[in-house]
Amino acid sequence: MTEEKFLTWVAVSESAYVRNLEFFRRLIPSKTEMSVVIKANAYGHGMAAIARLAANKGVDSFCVHSLDEAVRLRSEGFRQDILIMGPVPGSGLEQVIDQDFRLILYNPETLEELDNLTEAMKRPVRVHLKLETGTHRQGIDEAGLDKLLEKLKNASRVRLEAAYTHFANIEDTTDHSYAFEQKERFIASIDRIKQSGFSGIKRHVACSAAALLFPDTHFEMVRIGIGQYGLWPSRETFVSYKIRHSQNGESVLLPVLTWKTRISQLKTVAANRFVGYGCTFLTTRESRLAVLPVGYSDGYDRRLSNQSHVLIRGQRAPVRGRVCMNFIMADVTDIPDAGLGDEAVLIGRQGKEKVTADHLAALIGTINYEVVTRIDPGIPRVVVP
Ligand SMILES: *Cc1c(COP(=O)(O)O)cnc(C)c1O
Repeated sequence: MTEEKFLTWVAVSESAYVRNLEFFRRLIPSKTEMSVVIKANAYGHGMAAIARLAANKGVDSFCVHSLDEAVRLRSEGFRQDILIMGPVPGSGLEQVIDQDFRLILYNPETLEELDNLTEAMKRPVRVHLKLETGTHRQGIDEAGLDKLLEKLKNASRVRLEAAYTHFANIEDTTDHSYAFEQKERFIASIDRIKQSGFSGIKRHVACSAAALLFPDTHFEMVRIGIGQYGLWPSRETFVSYKIRHSQNGESVLLPVLTWKTRISQLKTVAANRFVGYGCTFLTTRESRLAVLPVGYSDGYDRRLSNQSHVLIRGQRAPVRGRVCMNFIMADVTDIPDAGLGDEAVLIGRQGKEKVTADHLAALIGTINYEVVTRIDPGIPRVVVP
């Protein structure tokens, strides 16, 4: 597939992605399972495209949020282990068993259903027990653990393959004491699981930030999300990594995604004319505007109105007026070469310039995760070298 035929598209760099995977593979002990988190359309990068690149590089397994995502991966032919980390309704459990997905377990109700179904189907299911250690999202707390383990012992076809937890406060701070407390609570719960007679249980706690900063969180499996896409979990993680490694973080992870569109119209507008809905921008000079066919319905946040830049011919062109549902207007008065059909980069590099997901996130008060995951899944994803 070539990029020429697209109007708005996401280019996924294979070489950047492969380099990031190789970086994590070196970071993580070779006997530790490296699972890549490809929920939310692989953080906006395109789930099928990313899964294929990861599988080609021998990534051990996938983590997704929903049964739907898991089913889509299987139907695309991926035979790797797939952990479903979000809730699955009772009506979907048969499919979990049938397609041999790994399933999060966090409550006795689901365990009971799984026990009944696996007996009826005469098929096993593998569960990963989610332990509550202080995030207070999904997970079974210490008070409920013993009872659940009792039930689990009697559910002979429900196999406890792993136990895991997720950190609440590892990206947002350079003080990691809360995460360390969670890890201690996790280890204590693992001891109780072992004392209950379960053995050979995989332990996993590490998201990207933990994997990057703390080797003692790698255990038998890691769940790498944002880092594989070449984005840092946060500024704080970047700084914490830099303190430990004195390496320039910019060269450690390479952003994989470039979001592009094309100039669909060019127009000259006199001085003292308004641009766009709400008349929020008034030209101060005769201006040349590029109309770009992308807007908030595509995931280009409306709060970027009059705030962001796009890259055209390697130069920054300011966005003028409000972001519309399907359009933005960029000022190319100072880019006289700009022509109809030219590429405009919304996120990514062009020439010596770049617009990062982090920068757009800062402009609208969010995190890079949200900026990339909100790019409309309907926009084509193209793998480029
Ligand atoms: C999304 C998610 C991850 C990945 O986190 P990153 O910060 O993107 O690496 C890991 N574990 C769980 C439970 C998640 O929900």
